[in-house]
Amino acid sequence: MDILLKNAQIITLDENDNLIREGSIGIRNNIIDYIGCNKQSHEEVYSKVIDCKGGAVMPGFVNAHNHLAMTMFRNYADDMKLMDWLFTKIFPLEDKLTEDAVYWGSLLAMVEMIKSGTTTFADMYFFMESTARAVSESGMRAVLSRGLQGESGEEDLDYRIRESTELLEKYHNSNNGRIKVMLAPHSVYTCSEAYLRKVAGKSREQGVPVQIHLSETREEVKTCIEKFGRSPVRYLEDLGLLNDKTVAAHCVAVDDSDIEILASRKVNVVHNPGSNMKLASGIAPVAKMLSKGINVCLGTDGASSNNNLDMLEEMRLAAYLQKILADDPTVLPAEMVMKMATLRGAAALGFENAGSIEVGKTADLIVLNTEKAHYYPKYNIISAIVYSGNSSDVEAVIIDGNLVMEGGHLITLDEERIFYKAQKCALKLTGQ
Ligand SMILES: [Zn+2]
Repeated sequence: MDILLKNAQIITLDENDNLIREGSIGIRNNIIDYIGCNKQSHEEVYSKVIDCKGGAVMPGFVNAHNHLAMTMFRNYADDMKLMDWLFTKIFPLEDKLTEDAVYWGSLLAMVEMIKSGTTTFADMYFFMESTARAVSESGMRAVLSRGLQGESGEEDLDYRIRESTELLEKYHNSNNGRIKVMLAPHSVYTCSEAYLRKVAGKSREQGVPVQIHLSETREEVKTCIEKFGRSPVRYLEDLGLLNDKTVAAHCVAVDDSDIEILASRKVNVVHNPGSNMKLASGIAPVAKMLSKGINVCLGTDGASSNNNLDMLEEMRLAAYLQKILADDPTVLPAEMVMKMATLRGAAALGFENAGSIEVGKTADLIVLNTEKAHYYPKYNIISAIVYSGNSSDVEAVIIDGNLVMEGGHLITLDEERIFYKAQKCALKLTGQ
């Protein structure tokens, strides 16, 4: 569908940070083909025209670290320490997951993400074919990874990596390039050294990037030093797992030498402030990492440790936390945090043609209704969205040139049916 968005305030996040007070965006064959004044937009050549009067258009959010079907465990086990929560509550339930539960759990996450303006996400979980099917139906853009954990025997390890390879062969660059596949060893504390070496080898051999949880807590770092005499960052560096395509979630407990390694290897770091705060993991030194040139982006982590997938909330938490950490309100300003939630996330996940509004780029964008009290008086639109915006302001969502939400209503997904099915699956899983 060819779409024209007119009468919109446009936040481009392009090289020059161009802001257009009132203009139009033309989309043809999934690509942005026009940005400019309303008068010259040639409205007649587009089959669909959306009047955004009173609204703002910006790039869609990129949630760069998530476990979609953990929506199944949302509010199931809260107020616990990370290791306790993982090993006594989450891992035993994950052993009971089924294709069906992951499918409906993923769709539930997608309903929430689209409605709050997310167009792209990275997922690492299980039964990823179910999630791939859900991506195909929803129209979202995604990085999918089969979660890899292994302390067990060789045969078991091979079986999981084989599933990862199958996912890669079947889905990488599928759905018009909307799906990419990465390898996802869970962490240094759930994968043996031999396993991580095997994954590093596969990554090189297949040219597939790796996403991993890294230095999420001080406890993880302490155990790694006791076991291997090195920090998790140094350990992964020595195993050959760090490069400019690596996506490392958290990096909360990193010291200056870890940051040097991450910067020199150009590793992409995903900050998850909501999850880090809820699990009392600490505050990642985001401003410091940014000052060293590291590409830091934003994620929510799974819905069970956040407990929502709202990137607007995540932006605000990220900005607040860094200001507190530095004891300086000038740190991590609104523009930077918005780029972390969009442009920088798209780059980290290898979707370089998305993340900003520019002619020739893929059309992944959202329309926010700014005719609401919390946007008045109108000064700086970026500040207004970051510090005053609500996810319920999102009115329309376009992904890969397709309209997936309009007027606040989902087009590709049946919300009511998904709620019903997800509830049923969740109760079955938890035996309630
Ligand atoms: Zn995670």
